[in-house]
Amino acid sequence: MLRLPPFRYHRPRTIDEAVGLLDRWGSRALPVSGGTDLIPNMKHRLFTPDHLVSLRQIPGMRGFRRDGSALMIGGAETLASVARHPEVLRRFPSLAAAAGQVAGPQLRNMGTLGGNICLDTRCTYYNQTEFWRDALGYCLKKDGDVCHVTRVGKKCVAAHSADTPPVLMTLGATIELAGPEGRREVGLNDFFLADGIWNSRRKPGEIVTRVRIPFASRDSRAAYTKLRQRRSIDFPLLSVAVSADFQRSARVCQIMGVVTALGARPRLLTGWARIALGRTLSTDVIEALAERAHRQCHPLENAIVDADWRRAMVPVQVRLALEALRPSAARAS
Ligand SMILES: Cc1cc2nc3c(=O)[nH]c(=O)nc-3n(C[C@H](O)[C@H](O)[C@H](O)COP(=O)(O)OP(=O)(O)OC[C@H]3O[C@@H](n4cnc5c(N)ncnc54)[C@H](O)[C@@H]3O)c2cc1C
Ligand code: SF4
Repeated sequence: MLRLPPFRYHRPRTIDEAVGLLDRWGSRALPVSGGTDLIPNMKHRLFTPDHLVSLRQIPGMRGFRRDGSALMIGGAETLASVARHPEVLRRFPSLAAAAGQVAGPQLRNMGTLGGNICLDTRCTYYNQTEFWRDALGYCLKKDGDVCHVTRVGKKCVAAHSADTPPVLMTLGATIELAGPEGRREVGLNDFFLADGIWNSRRKPGEIVTRVRIPFASRDSRAAYTKLRQRRSIDFPLLSVAVSADFQRSARVCQIMGVVTALGARPRLLTGWARIALGRTLSTDVIEALAERAHRQCHPLENAIVDADWRRAMVPVQVRLALEALRPSAARAS
């Protein structure tokens, strides 16, 4: 049986109190929300904080609220509540779909949106027991000096593996971060970094207090597809989030695609506007976009599933996501 290392558990009631505790204990403390990822990682000795600062009991981090032309969601809202909230289902069905596909029902009842955004990157050689990692000689991300995936260089390429961030990126969402130096708003598109060891601009003592998603002003559609081994429990092996705005004539006037679970950050697909703007989402256009995505995506051996197969699945998943944007299709996959 894997046991937890000893730690002290703090239950602040306000954001300022939580930030103060994290600041006070510095690198010896970590925030915890649902604990669905952090607690298993602590059992694997990937993290051994002396203090856990719980964010779940903070009323200021809960709730769904309309704020002018946007929906605000508390960072400590559970994924289950995001997946079934009427306003999310009506306005942002792709987010409801992504939240509803994280892990399984029990984990969605505990896991939060903030925890999903701040999820640690994952790798075959890292998400293992300490015994297993010790036998291998550890790796760059934790306690070692070599990367078993690339075998050269000093860069960790563990995969960003959270479902909601790619969708939030296509919806133009921003997050509020609260830390010892105050609060700041960051666009999700600028949040992630290509560094598997720490893959975001969040400073260690900062917490995600809320997510702000702007309402679309015109005919806008978004969709999400997820490739995984089983239709439940599993992390994504490859995910695709897409969004597009349409003119009355059904011609595309804005389009965006984000792929994730391949590298350390969700990847914005480039060159799509040149292919699709001013055109309808015909089979030819979808095929050209899928082909363009295929050329840009190169999965690594950081997951247990064959990288060549994952690459072959890129155009398949992109096609599925884009087909869901067609007027006749359901609004989210
Ligand atoms: C079997 C299994 C399957 C899973 N499958 C999936 C899956 O398919 N897709 C997926 O996306 N995830 C999956 N997960 C991971 C996890 O359940 C979810 O990502 C969940 O959303 C994490 O949220 P949490 O509140 O439990 O985070 P926690 O475990 O509490 O925290 C995760 C990390 O984020 C930090 N953190 C938490 N909240 C905040 C905050 N508000 N501000 C700043 N930092 C914070 C913590 O310090 C920690 O580093 C799976 C987990 C398990 C055990
Ligand atoms: S990508 Fe390399 S350094 Fe990063 S966790 Fe995997 S083996 Fe370790």
